[in-house]
Amino acid sequence: MKTALVNLHGRAALRRGDGAVDLEKASRGALPSDPMAAIRAWDVVRDWAAASLAGASEGLVTTLDEAALGPPVPFPAQVFALGLNYRDHAAEAGLELPKSPMIFTKFPSCLAGPRAAVPIGSSRVDWEVELVAVIGRGGRNIPEAKALEHVAGYCVGQDVSDRRLQFSDTPAQFSLGKSLANFGPIGPAVISLDAIPDPNDLALTCDVSGERMQSARTSLMVFSVPETIAYLSRHCTLLPGDLIFTGTPAGVGSVRNPRRYLAVGDEITSEIEHLGTLVNRCVAPAAE
Ligand code: ZN
Repeated sequence: MKTALVNLHGRAALRRGDGAVDLEKASRGALPSDPMAAIRAWDVVRDWAAASLAGASEGLVTTLDEAALGPPVPFPAQVFALGLNYRDHAAEAGLELPKSPMIFTKFPSCLAGPRAAVPIGSSRVDWEVELVAVIGRGGRNIPEAKALEHVAGYCVGQDVSDRRLQFSDTPAQFSLGKSLANFGPIGPAVISLDAIPDPNDLALTCDVSGERMQSARTSLMVFSVPETIAYLSRHCTLLPGDLIFTGTPAGVGSVRNPRRYLAVGDEITSEIEHLGTLVNRCVAPAAE
């Protein structure tokens, strides 16, 4: 049964119809209120949802205000991200496909909710819609054939990128320019695998102020989610709640002709079928 975990005012809740159910209250304390603890107990949460979500009577929120949602995975230990993982994006950038997954990080402090405002502090801030895999069960040396057993679910991610910082020197540095405040909106929910017919063939789009900038399918990925998990876990220990931003397709602003970057007042709409939509308004940076 589809399970959709959201972060409502810092508490774990499960979507039900147009509303949500507070996990800890609805389970009368049997399940955690902390979204990270809910991910760590994902199998138990899913079993409870299948048995009890429809009939739950405590902790109901009848209409969910998406503006109140935080990132469904607020404090992962590790956030992995892939560069050049779509054939069409590598082609538009004029770069060869990597022979192994090209890994960088988004520092976890950049994560933000599905309606979070994104401060724009430079004239070269770009958009990247991405499928994000959420690790449910950690491990090392995970074989590709068993990799999806380690995935709790998926959400939409927006890998906002300050190209000025990214390419300020040679060689380029990826992680810092992709980790500014609110540069990692994710959500709106962690959606369980059973609700996604084929994660290797999902439509994903990114619109900026109503103009379609990216439109592709995850079938264009160079390294699939199972291949990436197998590769990462040969080198790192994966932990419950870890995120993997799986790369962006063609259509980013820095390689468009003419180039196009985000400006204060723009609205970034990032959507993946079966997973939902992020809507993030670009705002002026705060004074400090
Ligand atoms: Zn990216």
